[in-house]
This record gives sequence, C-alpha cells and structure tokens, in this order.
Amino acid sequence: MKTVQDYIRTIPDFPHEGIMFRDVTTLFADPRGFRMAIDQLLHPYAGQPIDRVVGLEARGFILGGAIAHQLSVGFVPIRKKGKLPAKCIEQAYTLEYGEAIVEIHDDALKPGERVLMVDDLLATGGTAEAGIKLIERLGAQVTGCAFVIDLPELGGRAKLEALGMDVHALCA
Ligand code: IMP
Repeated sequence: MKTVQDYIRTIPDFPHEGIMFRDVTTLFADPRGFRMAIDQLLHPYAGQPIDRVVGLEARGFILGGAIAHQLSVGFVPIRKKGKLPAKCIEQAYTLEYGEAIVEIHDDALKPGERVLMVDDLLATGGTAEAGIKLIERLGAQVTGCAFVIDLPELGGRAKLEALGMDVHALCA
C-alpha cells in the first residue's frame, strides 16, 4: 500500500536555486492520498478535546479545513500581514533573509480554547512558533501541532518541543 510520502513530489530549484521544494499538491489531488493524510494527522488526537483548528497560510488552510470538518469544530486562519479584513494581532518572525509577519483576527479564539494547529511542512519552525505565539496571546492553548512533513535537520521540531509543544508529523 502507498504511504503519504509516496504522494509527495520534490521539485528541485524552486522557488530558488538549491531549494528542494516538497510539493504536496499531488497529495491533495489524490483522493486516497488526501484522505490518508487527514486520517493520519488526526490519529493521535482521537478522543482528545479540541475546540478549534488553526491553519497556517496557505496549505494549512486546505488541511485544516478538512480536519475541522472531520472534528465538527470551527476553522481559524493565520495569514500573512494585510490579508485578514478585521482587527488583528500580529507576530513577526525571522526568515532566512529578513523578517515576515503573520496575523490572526483578535476575536478568532476565546481564552481557554484548545487548538490543533496545522501546516503542510515544518522546517526551521519560525512560522509555527509565530502561530503558537498568536494563539497563546489570545489566551487559547495549543493541544498539538500537526504537519504532513517534518524536516528535523532544520530544527523546527526541537524548537517547538522546547516550547512544550506536542509535534506530530507524517513523514520526513
Ligand atoms: P519554517 O518557518 O522554516 O518552519 O517553514 C515552514 C513554512 O514554509 C510552512 O508554512 C511551509 O508551508 C513553507 N515551506 C517551506 N519549505 C517548504 C517546502 O519545501 N514545501 C512546502 N512548503 C514549504
């Protein structure tokens, strides 16, 4: 039987020379692959109380929407600065070259809500750490951080685990 990893392709030199880009569109496009990924992302959280799913732009929206529907809970987006229409709080984080800012609506989560945060890939962990900070600044708590791909050599898992996070990934 095929695994989730079998549905993901690697595109060399995208978006820059020397980058091996993991392309999950082939996973999302395959009916068995996509279902398998959603089921496996949810597996460790079966029976755990989760109030909201938060997805990180942009592929985290595709995964997070499907997971939220499966759990019958609401979905909340974290987006790059300037994309969300209502009042936001923002969080800056460091990229390889420069800085980026992500935002969440300031009324998107309630204090005490238990959140599952989702994205396609964990690399340095900068994006996920910024997401966790936004969730926690709204008073909610992160029950788990789920990714399709973890590149542990880039340090993201260690960074999130040092924050006390439960990190779940399907493949490396
Ligand atoms: P980090 O902040 O360094 O952990 O990078 C993770 C973020 O960059 C996630 O939002 C990913 O969607 C995106 N990303 C980085 N590399 C890749 C890749 O090879 N494929 C898909 N997304 C990537």
